Amino acid sequence: MTDKLSVLKKYYGYSSFRPGQEEIIDNTLSGRDSVVLMPTGGGKSLCYQIPALIMPGCAIVVSPLIALMIDQVQPLQANGIPAAAIHSNQDEHDNQDILYQAIQGKIKMIYISPERLMIEMPLIAERVNVSFVAIDEAHCISQWGHDFRPVYTNLKVIKQMLPGVAIMALTATADRLTRSDIAAALSLNNPFMWIGSFDRPNISLSVLSDPGKKNRLRIISSLIQKYHMDSGIVYCLSRKKTEEMHKALAELGYKSICYHAGLPPQIREEAQKAFVNGEVQVVCATIAFGMGIDKSNIRWVVHNNIPGNIESYYQEIGRAGRDGLPAEAILFYNFADIITRRSFVEDSGQREINEEKLDLMQRYAEASVCRRRILLSYFSEERNCDCGNCDNCRNPRKKIDGTIYAQKALSAIVRINASEGMHTIIDILRASTRAEIIQKGYHKIKTYGAGRELYPMEWNSYMLQMIQLGLIEVAYEDNFHLRPTEYGMKVLRGQERIMLSAYEPQKYGSNRKKSETISKPRLTPDEQLMENLKVMRKEISQKRGIADYMIFSDATLTDMVKRRPKTIDEMSRISGVSELKLAAYGKDFLGVVRKFLGLSRTEIGTSQKESLILFNSGMTPEEIAKIKNVTVSTVYGHLTLWIDDDKLTDFRRLVSSKDYNTILNEFTKDPENAYVNLKETYSIPPHIIRAAQAERRWHNRNSNDLK
Ligand code: ADP
Ligand code: ZN
Repeated sequence: MTDKLSVLKKYYGYSSFRPGQEEIIDNTLSGRDSVVLMPTGGGKSLCYQIPALIMPGCAIVVSPLIALMIDQVQPLQANGIPAAAIHSNQDEHDNQDILYQAIQGKIKMIYISPERLMIEMPLIAERVNVSFVAIDEAHCISQWGHDFRPVYTNLKVIKQMLPGVAIMALTATADRLTRSDIAAALSLNNPFMWIGSFDRPNISLSVLSDPGKKNRLRIISSLIQKYHMDSGIVYCLSRKKTEEMHKALAELGYKSICYHAGLPPQIREEAQKAFVNGEVQVVCATIAFGMGIDKSNIRWVVHNNIPGNIESYYQEIGRAGRDGLPAEAILFYNFADIITRRSFVEDSGQREINEEKLDLMQRYAEASVCRRRILLSYFSEERNCDCGNCDNCRNPRKKIDGTIYAQKALSAIVRINASEGMHTIIDILRASTRAEIIQKGYHKIKTYGAGRELYPMEWNSYMLQMIQLGLIEVAYEDNFHLRPTEYGMKVLRGQERIMLSAYEPQKYGSNRKKSETISKPRLTPDEQLMENLKVMRKEISQKRGIADYMIFSDATLTDMVKRRPKTIDEMSRISGVSELKLAAYGKDFLGVVRKFLGLSRTEIGTSQKESLILFNSGMTPEEIAKIKNVTVSTVYGHLTLWIDDDKLTDFRRLVSSKDYNTILNEFTKDPENAYVNLKETYSIPPHIIRAAQAERRWHNRNSNDLK
């Protein structure tokens, strides 16, 4: 067998492996499944390319984007490696020819999209000697991930059709839950897990609250000037904002370009080329930009608008400083963007998960502790020291020794076996006499009342910091219960001390102002909650163009403050909440209260279940959308999940036969462009397409059962 080091030298010219590469390669060579988590630029490609070269047969590499495939294949071919890609931008003859060569054993690596793999799978399984299968961007398979793509769920057939063949799932971005989901969704067999470090200490992190338009331009200008020989990226929320920013910068005389998915492919390609060649100083882009760009001297990344989740944010800032030299990441934060983001989330069909992810992103923006620790603990890397290279480390807020508070909280969590969320833990610490606390016997545990010295809001702030610092983790899959991490246990046992930022009351949604400029009066928790509820009322009244009091009177809000409803049921009993208003606004206000109590804004699954019940009672998706006050696409999103769960089979009420056939047809003809073609030529929106695909999956599952 050829030795991996000589392959590394011969084909790539490198003399040693990076952390993880060797172990990952060895495991695949021995036929074991693996999950590989490495940040962008960590060297994932070599992990599958080298075993592909060493092992007999041909490796299949699943990759979601044609552009990425071409980027990978060309340099391989240039180094004399027989690799090829099968995709729809290539002549069908060539595609067939590549498969034929693979059957003859002349090709070592085939890159292929998941859609296409599904079509070719029977042939490949039957006739190609597959060495192993690598799945890139594997987080797309998980509903917990930030980039769920239904087509990825089909990849579970790989294990069924090629049972003896190892699978390597790779991703640059996955939180704890997504990781285990990847392994389960692909039916991996006791996989080797490699979790590379996500730390990028050379990127300095800062957040600027409410920067204002002029200030934004001033900061971007100064970055361009500071790094005038290199380039940077400004990420914007929408195409329109991208164009506005580009225009403003070009007017100031900078070499700027614009990049978003609405531009014709040719223009996009030129823009990308100009950027890679260093002809421009700044790209104003939506997230569509940057995938697969291997440009090592991007010196700065500005987020003009807050991203929807931490994974995206980390991936985007990670494009800076890949050469390891100092780089800067600045996030402009204002609350209006959160509101816009929230409306995207409502349309996403995965509202609860995405809402939770957005909340975490918002907490990052509003945080007062070391920002790097927040990011790393999000990816389950615990650190016990601050980074010194973020704004909070450079301008620290007043610190207190929080060891005792942490020990009290952790001890309460441990004593109830990590079976509750933050709100209940705080109630225990503060000796609440709420019925639930007494019923469950929590008043008998030793820590009951141990934290009376702090207000609930103070506990809230400190416990959030403990989560951000990696002492406590939130079990998203388990009703948001809190549990101690290993690092937390050390603090509990007195082996480590912990510093926390002193509590300062915050205005809902807005970041702390510099304490030197304004010293805000301290709000009581009730006043704080009232204020949060009023902000929500304002948000809704502005959106709908009606007066505040038409939504809820102050008296009704006061009753919410007093009774703090945690469920829709409790909300319905608040004075002034009629059925109609409950349907229209209940969830939003409930969300405010729940968030205030440290709970997730909504309970996972409730909304999906609701949609199914209403659908089964005979309502159309449009009627359901109306009564729930969400978009039709959200309702489709919910119902589609139920198709995949085998709980909904009344397909024709979602997708007409005609549309269904048109959709299947397009996906057979041109899978990569099917979404666009269906929308443009037949006006079939994505949510109908997704429902149709779920239906097809259902038929596939059920016809397999018959065999
Ligand atoms: P990823 O896919 O994880 O984003 P890549 O596989 O594109 O990362 O690798 C990033 C860069 O690091 C590439 O230029 C690659 O050639 C280089 N690289 C990978 N492994 C090594 C190694 N062992 N020694 C030196 N350079 C490496
Ligand atoms: Zn820091």
